[in-house]
Amino acid sequence: ASGRAGEPSAWPPLRGELRGIEPYGAPQLDVPVQLNVNENPYGPSDACIADIAAAAAEAAATLNRYPDREFVALRADLASYLSGDAGAGVTIAPEQVWAANGSNEVMLQLLQAFGGPGRTAVSFAPTYSMYPEYARDTNTRWVAGRRAEDFALDLDAARDLVKTEQPSVILLPSPNNPTGTALPPEAVRTLCEAAGDEGIVVVDEAYGEFRRTGVPSALELLPSYRNLVVTRTMSKAFAGAGLRLGYLAADPAICDAIRVVRLPYHLSAVTQAVARAALRHAPELLGKVDELRGERDALVGWLRAEGYDVADSDANFVLFGRFADRHAVWQGLLDQGVLIRETGPDGWLRVSVGTATEMAAFRTALNEVTAVNG
Ligand code: PMP
Repeated sequence: ASGRAGEPSAWPPLRGELRGIEPYGAPQLDVPVQLNVNENPYGPSDACIADIAAAAAEAAATLNRYPDREFVALRADLASYLSGDAGAGVTIAPEQVWAANGSNEVMLQLLQAFGGPGRTAVSFAPTYSMYPEYARDTNTRWVAGRRAEDFALDLDAARDLVKTEQPSVILLPSPNNPTGTALPPEAVRTLCEAAGDEGIVVVDEAYGEFRRTGVPSALELLPSYRNLVVTRTMSKAFAGAGLRLGYLAADPAICDAIRVVRLPYHLSAVTQAVARAALRHAPELLGKVDELRGERDALVGWLRAEGYDVADSDANFVLFGRFADRHAVWQGLLDQGVLIRETGPDGWLRVSVGTATEMAAFRTALNEVTAVNG
């Protein structure tokens, strides 16, 4: 059989640009200390588990019916949670909220609605490696600018890139993955103004709840910019990675636009019910955030005292280096039962912040490994 015009034949008849590409994903290994995908190490209490189970049972009773396509109750609950986190004077209304199966799906939907053939998405590397995949999968042209040496945004260069490329979507994680770098409000303002009505600016706050004191959320800027979108997730601070619930706050017109591309009933009745039950337990589920921020700051201090280069972090992970052979260090840690992530610029490794016991295990293992690997 011959392939399509310009493509060699192959089976299965995959899009040419997808051939040979490995699916995205960190290794899922069953080891004692898992510090590789930025999860919250603390599971729910028995009371919370019982409440979630009851909510799932109630949803189960009507599983013969499709779920609420507009997930009205969940949108209201998310709006009220966000209003509490947005800072004084900012209220988020339910029609400003949209949700999907993880913030990955939220951002894919944003690219489906606002990207596409003939359009460009921009971000600044090193950054989250799924962004170019959303662009590829939606046939959106992908342009990555560079971050400065300290992983902050060079605002003049970023503004120039936006003026030159005229992107329809700008993806700005704050804090950034894998560096942990948060954006000052000035950066968001500058890029919202540079993008104008031709582009949307997506501030990905997947790790927003871990930001250091005094670092504001971009939610505060929503009243000023109708092209601003702030995404969040229940996967990280909220201790709900298994739930698959991500969401955004934006102008209601942006939420309405996404409704055109979303699959009908994309949020199952079980997801909606369980997310609402988890939101009722927000104080408990978020209850370890302060402790994790403390562990993070202690980890940064320890790594620096040991002589490593460490990126400032507003997230629940830390990027550190530099290693001549980072893979050997990663493997050495794994051999001692500590799984971290081989990601980011050459020579750097990323470790998630776990419990105090897990961090002690990481420190011991790192010292042993580097004593061997130099
Ligand atoms: N944004 C960033 C910066 C992330 O690191 C992640 C998860 N690794 C996500 C979004 C997506 O997370 P989820 O789909 O679980 O909400």
